[in-house]
Amino acid sequence: MDFTLQEEHRMLQDTVRRFVRQELLPLESLVLQRDTQGMTGEDLLPPEVDEKLLAKAKEAGLWGLDVPEEFGGLNLDTFSKCLANEELHKTITPFTFPPDAPNLHMLMQTCTPEQRERYLIPYARGEKRSAIAISEPGAGSDPAGMQTTAVKKGDQWVINGRKIWISRAHIADFMIVMALTDKDKRARGGITAFLVDKGTPGLILQRQIPVIGGHAPWEIVFEDMIVPDSHVLGEIGQGFAPMQLRLTVRRLEIGTWCVGMAQRCLDMMVDYAKQRVTFGQRLADRQSIQWFIADAATDIYAARLMAHHGAWKFDQGQDVRQEASMLKVFATEMATRIADQAMQVHGGMGMSKDLPLEFMYRRLRPMRIFEGPSEVHRWVIARSLLKE
Ligand SMILES: Cc1cc2nc3c(=O)[nH]c(=O)nc-3n(C[C@H](O)[C@H](O)[C@H](O)COP(=O)(O)OP(=O)(O)OC[C@H]3O[C@@H](n4cnc5c(N)ncnc54)[C@H](O)[C@@H]3O)c2cc1C
Repeated sequence: MDFTLQEEHRMLQDTVRRFVRQELLPLESLVLQRDTQGMTGEDLLPPEVDEKLLAKAKEAGLWGLDVPEEFGGLNLDTFSKCLANEELHKTITPFTFPPDAPNLHMLMQTCTPEQRERYLIPYARGEKRSAIAISEPGAGSDPAGMQTTAVKKGDQWVINGRKIWISRAHIADFMIVMALTDKDKRARGGITAFLVDKGTPGLILQRQIPVIGGHAPWEIVFEDMIVPDSHVLGEIGQGFAPMQLRLTVRRLEIGTWCVGMAQRCLDMMVDYAKQRVTFGQRLADRQSIQWFIADAATDIYAARLMAHHGAWKFDQGQDVRQEASMLKVFATEMATRIADQAMQVHGGMGMSKDLPLEFMYRRLRPMRIFEGPSEVHRWVIARSLLKE
């Protein structure tokens, strides 16, 4: 077993680190200012700044990291993406190297040649943005309970229903919509994925819902929304498995985001403990503070190894659903704990918006809900261990 990073991995890590230091860290005060003004989601960065960052990322070759070469990407492995994600999340400035990876994985598995041209290739090049609509008011953790229906009429489908918590619905050029095509079969052959273009008649963006941590997903309604047969993504009734693949990739990513955020909190804790003096002694010399630091470093070490192993196993083509669940539970909870302790060590300053800590703390909270709540992941892990 060799844990040494290969040259290409080290180079990518260095390039992303430089990008974060030079481009993203200087924007943190702007993000905090806009957050204080009540801006959320994609508005945390002004569009012209986002455009500039995209151009700089492209210039630095940080584009389409895990996109196959035939679609103009770098064709890097998931392990590389995991290294890049850790670095990107050492800052609160929200930025992703296009495209958004999880939908890419679902599209690569399912697109027809025609859909490749129209959706996958422009998406992989970062020219189109996407969203995925799975959750409903009555079906979140348990998507098999969805009520949205798609009924075939001639060579088209009529979709009716309601989805909730859909991230980036307003900026997506297209959306992957999951709907019931067989009410009896549900997750076992009755759920189909559809590609729905922005502006399709019957697609109603009903309201944006600001939630903790600067996220602002949407509630959307489909009212007799017509989708041509050519927009069925994958096989009819077989949408659940590619959707699960997409969720698994995202769970691995969330694990690496948490490692990056926790590392930033630890670095800040260490720096501050060395300079802050109370009652004539540095915080660094107090055992209670040393234990925060030691426990944080130990937890980050464990989570990073879990993330690296999960990514490596995924790259070997193995099933990592169990590892992704374990990583998501462990990493989101450890990063929450470390962000809280980092705030504690910084005292009043830790509560303030002068530092990125409280933003990170809020940002972490919904990560224990989206892509599956912690309790559901624990249940899934235990269920597979307890099964006869
Ligand atoms: C910021 C944000 C962005 C999101 N983006 C998207 C998106 O882009 N697309 C999309 O489709 N969805 C999205 N979601 C939805 C998200 O995936 C769901 O909120 C999540 O799956 C939980 O579903 P729910 O809210 O219906 O909670 P429920 O399923 O009602 O669960 C509520 C609570 O019950 C408990 N619970 C549930 N089941 C079990 C169980 N089996 N065992 C033990 N405890 C259990 C858990 O504590 C859970 O938190 C987003 C959510 C948020 C907050």
